[in-house]
Amino acid sequence: IVDRLRGGDDTRIPFSVEFSPPRDEAAEQRLWRAVRVFERLGPAFVSMTYGAGGSTRDRTVRVTGQLAEETTLLPVAHLTAVDHSIDELRSMVGAYADRGISNILVLRGDPPGDPLGEWRRHPEGVEYAHELVRLVRDLGDFHVGVASFPEGHHRSPDLDHDTRYLTAKLRAGAEYSITQVFFDVEDYLRLRDRVAAFDPEQGAKPIVPEIMPITSLRSVRRMMELSGSRLPRHLEERLVRAAGSGPEEDRAAVRAEGIDIATEMCERLVDEGAPGLHFITLNFARATGEVLERLGGRIRTAADSAPVRSVG
Ligand code: FAD
Repeated sequence: IVDRLRGGDDTRIPFSVEFSPPRDEAAEQRLWRAVRVFERLGPAFVSMTYGAGGSTRDRTVRVTGQLAEETTLLPVAHLTAVDHSIDELRSMVGAYADRGISNILVLRGDPPGDPLGEWRRHPEGVEYAHELVRLVRDLGDFHVGVASFPEGHHRSPDLDHDTRYLTAKLRAGAEYSITQVFFDVEDYLRLRDRVAAFDPEQGAKPIVPEIMPITSLRSVRRMMELSGSRLPRHLEERLVRAAGSGPEEDRAAVRAEGIDIATEMCERLVDEGAPGLHFITLNFARATGEVLERLGGRIRTAADSAPVRSVG
């Protein structure tokens, strides 16, 4: 991943995308339609989130394996410590390795049901993500990424604490981090400065900003509630204006405003030297594709071919 993020003298930056495990057959078909579009657009890598529940987990491992075996994409498997003993975590990593996956995004995960609720370690599991980073690294030649939080993690009492433990994950062997979604680029820049000031060696590791093109005001509000993050007032005002005053929000207008906001953020992040742009897709290609198209020649594709053109 880090090799793909480094572009040498190339001022264009790569992009990558996040998928989520399909819950049923119809959702799986939608995922595969998005996968085929992204194969043409050339992301540096694609990541697959990891959720609770046995059957979804089995499907996640299978689909992530298929991404490795049946597509031109480079998959990164998310892995969380939720409800897993260390033995189970080892066997999950083994299952990924058996399918040719060596890139893992290591996370602690959130309590199932209520992400802001009380965290309970599995009696034979791990407490914090840095322990899982070490465990995965000890199991073989895996390339590990971790999560970072531009506004600070919601359980961190302050930003110094947050920086200390992000740095601990990087020191434990993570090679890069991907941020939580944010909507104020200043928060990302401050995170980058904090890590660099706290530990210059770890601060040199890529911090990849995660971008979510907003397509619905209602869902972004819900998401911000669940993650404890904030939507800056001036952006919320733009979206509220677009939503209009009718009983239902004007989805098309909100979506257009959301694409504008995401594009403006990406332009600024490119100018500020971000190492890449990681898009949450919710398994749809169109919104991310539109942002990429608007960014045009600023984006480097995996094939290092021409700038992204049309989503098709
Ligand atoms: P940790 O790094 O363990 O940190 C959790 C808290 O503990 C922080 O406040 C940290 O500062 C503190 N802390 C860490 N170590 C110590 C210590 N030694 N002593 C005291 N305090 C400490 N969740 C999913 O369920 N599935 C996913 O696929 C998924 N993907 C994600 C992808 C990205 C890019 C991001 C940003 C988040 C993702 N999440 C996912 C959510 C993530 O699991 C939660 O945000 C979780 O609450 C934090 O995980 P972490 O790995 O950062 O935890």
